[in-house]
Amino acid sequence: MGFCLYNNVAVATSFLLNERQELGINKVLIVDWDVHHGNGTQKMFWKDPRVLFFSVHRHEFGSFYPASDDGSHIMVGEGPGAGYNINVPWENGRCGDADYLAVWDHVLIPIAKEFRPDIIIISAGFDAAIGDPLGGCCVTPCGYAILLKKLMEFAQGKIVMALEGGYNLDSLANSVLACVEVLLEDKPIIGLSEAYPFQSTWRVIQSVREELCTFWSILKGELPKKLTSRKTPLIQISSSDSDVENDNNSRTISQDLEKAVQDVIQPLSELRVDAHSNDEVNTGCSSWRSELSKIDVWYASYGSNMWKSRFLCYIEGGQVEGMKNPCTGSLDKRPPKEIIWTTVPHRLFFGRDHTKTWGPGGVAFLDPESNSQDKAYMCMYRITLEQFNDVLLQENVPGYDMSSPLFDLTDLDSVMKNQYFSVEALEGGWYYNVVHMGNENGIPILTMTCTISDVENFKSGKFPSSAPAKGYVNILVRGLEEGKQLSEEAAMAYILEASTKPLL
Ligand SMILES: [Zn+2]
Repeated sequence: MGFCLYNNVAVATSFLLNERQELGINKVLIVDWDVHHGNGTQKMFWKDPRVLFFSVHRHEFGSFYPASDDGSHIMVGEGPGAGYNINVPWENGRCGDADYLAVWDHVLIPIAKEFRPDIIIISAGFDAAIGDPLGGCCVTPCGYAILLKKLMEFAQGKIVMALEGGYNLDSLANSVLACVEVLLEDKPIIGLSEAYPFQSTWRVIQSVREELCTFWSILKGELPKKLTSRKTPLIQISSSDSDVENDNNSRTISQDLEKAVQDVIQPLSELRVDAHSNDEVNTGCSSWRSELSKIDVWYASYGSNMWKSRFLCYIEGGQVEGMKNPCTGSLDKRPPKEIIWTTVPHRLFFGRDHTKTWGPGGVAFLDPESNSQDKAYMCMYRITLEQFNDVLLQENVPGYDMSSPLFDLTDLDSVMKNQYFSVEALEGGWYYNVVHMGNENGIPILTMTCTISDVENFKSGKFPSSAPAKGYVNILVRGLEEGKQLSEEAAMAYILEASTKPLL
């Protein structure tokens, strides 16, 4: 599926097992590290215990391409094949070396040890590579080399890599080069990553292990808290054992190889479809983040985010009562620097009839236009513009890859001049209109709501307006109460008025 015509890996596997029995290959491990789920391969070997199929992919609860539940971790195979299908579905993009290595160490490698494959075939897409415009993940060439190196411990190193996705030719070339070097040379990989896995990664790993431990007893038991909460370097693979002669040799091979690969890649570089420069590839996920992490804004909330515990899910990740799914959080998990409350002359109202986060019932919107008759309570969090981007994404449709910001400094300038700014990439989301509500201590106050034309649609009935569900009301009331703005009773009355007064 996707851009593929033939599933080379599945065809090769089937051929080895069924047509070439004299080779003595009875068990095949397929490792699919392409950023997309290997749905075709999964289907082919769904009931076949001779094939252990492992896929790690962006899934985002079924919203990432190919957008189905097939990639869920509960899809473990059927009949004799039960337990031989392993899905590791990322809840978010931006996963990098530390996340993949954690999955290798705590899911794939232990199972591979028990399975003892006769050969490994890798669905080697490189669209999870740093800089890839479709994948939005951050695996470095060194990361791929380590993933591959760990697999070479099995099947006496009999590994086939079949190239699949990869849409940034520089990222692709660098990643492939790193892997080919591992295949050709027996040299230690020198690399050090300061990163640690996302909290969501540990959550996913734990669910996968729970799902599969009935088939693979080695996965029984919780991962130690010490590990899952660690914020220190997770991997430190390096070696200084190799002598000078070896170093020289490997450098020569490496340079020759680089040249050979360059000769192949050069003619293709004319076909470049993305605008990434080399620099952007190298720093891919982080360049805009470090820039925007230095700018503070007030994010002014008027709905469930008024309750601090709920808002912190957008920063730290996690879930509070009433939420259907956990949040991924921001990459920068530092709490807000300040929290203050204010009231504004804007209309609070409730619209839509169902939300992904809260289930049935309307959610809060703020009319972007002010009116002196109206009064709405707002809780303002002082966060960085980087964090604001992550909140904006989570409030709208996840699936944007975040390799570039949704709302950058130019957009901030624009909203301060024009008061409104619609984030194009989020169109279709409900809160994609960023509104400038003034300044506090010289720092711009921003909120996110619907557009003025959406308000017209709510008024005309084209968009449903619907009262909030009881659980959601409780969250709003709790926010207002804990923020010492209103008593429980007064908060109830405030919400009731906003949800019943007609939108004029
Ligand atoms: Zn792919």
